[in-house]
Amino acid sequence: MTSAAPGGERDVPPAASGRVPEPGPAPVPAAVAPMPDDLRRVAEAAPGFMPPAEGQALYQAAAHYAGLGPVLEVGSYCGKSAVYLAAAVWRHGQPVITVDHHRGSEENQPGWEYHDPALTGPDGRLDTLPHLRATLARGGLEDTVIAVVGRSAQVARLWGRPLGMVFIDGGHTDAAAQADYESWAPWVTPGGALALHDVFPDPAGGGQAPFRVYRRALASGVFTEVSVTGSLRILRRDGPGI
Ligand code: SAH
Ligand code: MG
Repeated sequence: MTSAAPGGERDVPPAASGRVPEPGPAPVPAAVAPMPDDLRRVAEAAPGFMPPAEGQALYQAAAHYAGLGPVLEVGSYCGKSAVYLAAAVWRHGQPVITVDHHRGSEENQPGWEYHDPALTGPDGRLDTLPHLRATLARGGLEDTVIAVVGRSAQVARLWGRPLGMVFIDGGHTDAAAQADYESWAPWVTPGGALALHDVFPDPAGGGQAPFRVYRRALASGVFTEVSVTGSLRILRRDGPGI
């Protein structure tokens, strides 16, 4: 309860309290072992948007919360974050389920800031699925990661079981981010984790949709922040509902 969250430093103050100040929320317990080097290299080489320190924090969280159930990711892209998750879950015998329509978010389309022309498919449209599959093959993770191709909310309507951890890193419009929260946060098992990426309290850092989801999750009173690393927030479910 007193050590710093692994993989990163806190950059938000603990809530004010009348008692002796506590060092902040309970940290994610340290993983039993560091991420294997070969998988770290695969993750770092994959195209994507997750800095290594955030990837390590994601790994640490998944290594802990996969003890409670499978890990589900919204937003596979080319598999970078899925490798960090997959490296953590195998010791619990849990899969990672990663959901993406593979056509890219708004900001991945031609003319936008995060467009990568190397990811254009034979029909001229963005297609990240072959790149996800190549990343998983490179990591030997094809039996650990289940790739679901589809729209997040549509897939969620068919879902029916609790998850140890949900990582939301899909569309960054308010509509997409809020729908992902409403679709998947209910499935986080008691004591399990909701991980959110691209949470920028300062608008200068990036779009505000994930930050608004983060604020909503904390305001619900059922999620408690347990670690902060860059734009990655890990919240633990401490009560029912969303
Ligand atoms: N987690 C990845 C990056 C994800 S980028 C990494 O760290 O490497 C966001 C992804 O979300 C894109 O690949 C995009 O296709 C996907 N996406 C956006 N909106 C979606 C939706 N409604 N349903 C499924 N996938 C979506
Ligand atoms: Mg992201």
